[in-house]
Amino acid sequence: MDLYFDNAATTRISGKALNAYTEASLGCWGNPSSVHRPGLEARKKLEEERERIASLMEVPASSLFFTSGATESIAAAVSSLLFTTPGKIIISSAEHEAVASWLPLLRQYGWKTAVLKAKGGTVDPDDLRAELTPDTKFVGIMAVSNVTGAIEPVKELVETVREYEKAGRRRIFFFSDSVQALGKTDYSAADLGIDGASFSAHKINGPRGIGMLYLRNPSSFRPLAQAGGQERGKRGGTENLPAISAFRAALEEWMDGRAEKNAEAKRRKDMIVTALMERGFRILSPVNSSPYIISFASKLPSEVYTRILSDRGVYVSAGSACSNNSRGEGERILLGMGFSPDAARNAVRISMSNSTTDEECMELIRIIGETADGR
Ligand code: PLP
Repeated sequence: MDLYFDNAATTRISGKALNAYTEASLGCWGNPSSVHRPGLEARKKLEEERERIASLMEVPASSLFFTSGATESIAAAVSSLLFTTPGKIIISSAEHEAVASWLPLLRQYGWKTAVLKAKGGTVDPDDLRAELTPDTKFVGIMAVSNVTGAIEPVKELVETVREYEKAGRRRIFFFSDSVQALGKTDYSAADLGIDGASFSAHKINGPRGIGMLYLRNPSSFRPLAQAGGQERGKRGGTENLPAISAFRAALEEWMDGRAEKNAEAKRRKDMIVTALMERGFRILSPVNSSPYIISFASKLPSEVYTRILSDRGVYVSAGSACSNNSRGEGERILLGMGFSPDAARNAVRISMSNSTTDEECMELIRIIGETADGR
């Protein structure tokens, strides 16, 4: 049997999501901006889907904007800074390239940048406090690491920023890339008190190419790309209604019995972690990390070991790798977390979905046992 353990990279679309996609494609194919009947029907459906997603996430529908994915949501949030007078942006060393790759451009435009070390996986609020300055305008710290599954103390970090603001300085936008958190932890954007967040459907069994930008206070947000006027002027381009419907269906499935499903995932994760430790592997994920992600140091360079596993029908990732285009990214992030160059080079990521079975986990453990020394 093929064992797919790379769900942090992407997931297989679920039957319900695919049905929702087909239904919206065939039944609601008008352009939501058109004023004739098919257009008005599409507009109605679009707003209904937004309402349903918002109610699952317990945020106002007016705070959600559909995009083509998390990378675009992040780009919209960060690039909007280019409209303002340069200040300081603070991010963590664990950020995905979709966030981190903006820093050189911002520097070119006169921005000061600071990268906080996510030691052991997470950012220390004291380190954030020490970097806050009167010209700080943007803090970007992810909710859950795609590399190790570490859960950032976002609420505490937001409180740190708000305390600093209270001392009479100007407002700071707190953004949290929440791709690996939605559905997979007890994540709540409203509870965390963040100003902005990015989400992506294909990490939760929805289709590719659809994501969301959450904005707590949309009126204060001016996007760099102004075209089209769709999404209340925040994101131009014809709305991808079938994918939005499918995103809603996928999220509904993840949120239905979320606590039980995540507890089950944690049980499976513990089973794999115990087996890996018994075989002498070092676990790189912190203890209280996402129940869906396990990072461990193999005994071979990760690209070699993942190839060996792949030949046995076990599909995992080297380090982070949402794509192989970003090889080395996982290494950069693990080094930033304080792991040794050897551990970073040999890191392998196992990532599960809520449909991963005990049988699949046991088979994974068996094959890792057989291949542990590179056989
Ligand atoms: N941020 C994180 C933490 C991710 O894991 C990913 C995955 O690729 C992204 C951003 C980018 O998401 P998307 O593929 O929707 O652009």
